[in-house]
Amino acid sequence: MNFLKKGNKLYSILKFKCPHCHEGEFFKSRNPYNFQNLSATFDRCPKCKRKLYIEPGFYYGAMYVSYALGVAHVVTFWVASLVLDLEIEFWNFIILVGTFLILLTPLYYALSKIVWANLFLNFKGLENGKS
Ligand SMILES: [Zn+2]
Repeated sequence: MNFLKKGNKLYSILKFKCPHCHEGEFFKSRNPYNFQNLSATFDRCPKCKRKLYIEPGFYYGAMYVSYALGVAHVVTFWVASLVLDLEIEFWNFIILVGTFLILLTPLYYALSKIVWANLFLNFKGLENGKS
């Protein structure tokens, strides 16, 4: 699987690694369901020491990614119900989708932050130290 090598943004996103070096951790806790520091990120990568915050409030933009993930979640359930030919009543569908959406919210929150970071921060490897 070529896309899961270091240097590919999907590697950083799926492994929750620093977008700069793909070595250091991005989140203070690897578990998005750790409610004590819910998807808190380091200010600087613990390995390469590069900034993980471009500017104050940088991660507010992750809301756009979060919205896209939410839409993708609903569409996935809707298409699955059509493909599997499930005849679910409207409100049962809303409750089913909503329940899974609430359960997956911590994961989507973490994913939206690291996807947002990867839109603006590029892989540079461990060399050159700071930037
Ligand atoms: Zn790093």
